[in-house]
Amino acid sequence: TYVVTEDCIKCKYTDCVEVCPVDCFYEGENMLVIHPDECIDCGVCEPECPPEAIIPDTDPEAEQWIELNTKYAELW
Ligand code: SF4
Repeated sequence: TYVVTEDCIKCKYTDCVEVCPVDCFYEGENMLVIHPDECIDCGVCEPECPPEAIIPDTDPEAEQWIELNTKYAELW
C-alpha cells in the first residue's frame, strides 16, 4: 500500500484523488490519507503528488504514518 506523509499537510492539490483508480483517498484532519485495505498498490498517485507526500509503505519514512492513514481512512 501507499502512505500519505506530512508533506500533504495544507496541500491544496487533489491530483492524487483524481488519478486513483479505486478512490481510496480520504480526508484526514489536515491532510489526505490512503485506506490501506483499499489501495491496490498501483503507484499511479505517487508522481502526481505536487509536494511528493505519497510514498510506498516499504519506505522507512512511511512507518510512522501508517497508523494515522489507517485511523483516518477507517473513520469513513
Ligand atoms: Fe490509489 Fe494506486 Fe495510489 Fe493506491 S497506489 S492510493 S490505488 S493511486
